[in-house]
Amino acid sequence: MPSCFELPLNAIYFNTRFMVYNFNAGPTHLPDAVINEASAAILDWNKTGLSILEIGHRSQAFVDVVEESRQLVSELLMLDSDQQVLFLHGGASTQFFQVPMNLLDNKEVAAYADTGVWSSKAIQEARLFGKIEVVCSSKDQQYRIIPTDFAVPNEARYFHITTNNTIYGTQWQKIPFTSNTMVADMSSDLFSRVLPFNRFGLIYAGAQKNLGPAGVTLVIVREDMLGKIKRAIPTMLDYKKHIAEKSMLNTPPVFALYTCLLTLRWLKAQGGVAAMEQINLKKSNDLYAELDRNPLFHTMVNGEDRSKMNVCFSLDSAERNQQFSAFAKDRNIYGIEGHRLAGAFRASLYNAIPQTYVDYLIQTIQDFTRIHG
Ligand SMILES: *Cc1c(COP(=O)(O)O)cnc(C)c1O
Repeated sequence: MPSCFELPLNAIYFNTRFMVYNFNAGPTHLPDAVINEASAAILDWNKTGLSILEIGHRSQAFVDVVEESRQLVSELLMLDSDQQVLFLHGGASTQFFQVPMNLLDNKEVAAYADTGVWSSKAIQEARLFGKIEVVCSSKDQQYRIIPTDFAVPNEARYFHITTNNTIYGTQWQKIPFTSNTMVADMSSDLFSRVLPFNRFGLIYAGAQKNLGPAGVTLVIVREDMLGKIKRAIPTMLDYKKHIAEKSMLNTPPVFALYTCLLTLRWLKAQGGVAAMEQINLKKSNDLYAELDRNPLFHTMVNGEDRSKMNVCFSLDSAERNQQFSAFAKDRNIYGIEGHRLAGAFRASLYNAIPQTYVDYLIQTIQDFTRIHG
């Protein structure tokens, strides 16, 4: 393939990369249609003679991109009109402190569920801004379960959970609503299943798992959550100011946001979140069924706490794991190594991962078992 410098100026780049089965936890595979259209927009965006990388963020064309993205998020998640959709920077990790900075006064209490590394990082940051009560933790179970039987204090300003625990492969199947001020880190399962999104006070997600490339952070906040604290907030961290300026306080990550829009359009064309949930259910059911049936492999999470996005599994020894790792790599399977804190394997089955990838992974597991079992 010619390098892009050899292509005529108005050429459209088509996705002719060779096939890799990408199961990475994030950033990760995007739909081919999105990659093709984003690539074309780099060369010439909508026949304007300008690359999407070159346009002004205050141009009407880009203001329209932000507006359409906002509307699609609202529509796909069936949000209420007082739920504001913001596209911010800094990743989900910035929300770990931006949330308490905006919602919690120093002497007030917020409740947190500790279900993994991301939750515990959110807890650590929140302690800088108020009194944090950890109402449940699965740390003693190596974060391989979702806690049950806990109470959230009435005076808590909000209750924070991580809906899907990307590293350990657990997921809240039933959201423990205690009030309408629930705050949720949905970085790794937003848009993958239907939830009553309009019952949350605030939802946030880094884009790079289910929404697009890295660089955009989606925040959805109900207006009545804001304006209740005394603390002075720096402009760039103030949700109210972002709402007033429609996510354009400063230069947004233009290309990343445009690619999110393409992914949102793609998601709508697939039938939206409800259709995606059915597709995702089949993918994860198929993979778990093979792992449960196969004598060489086992899963790390059991029962209903299993994540439909991140499937964690292992063989019975480090040597066996190494052997399977090499086998899978040989078959162009990418990104199934577990997180460095969890080890073994993790296959991430986000929205953009087609059923054919999952079938291929299952076939690879079966072939390995036949040859090495
Ligand atoms: C990936 C991830 C994060 C971290 O996201 P960044 O955008 O890298 O800050 C936080 N929470 C969850 C649940 C994640 O999966």
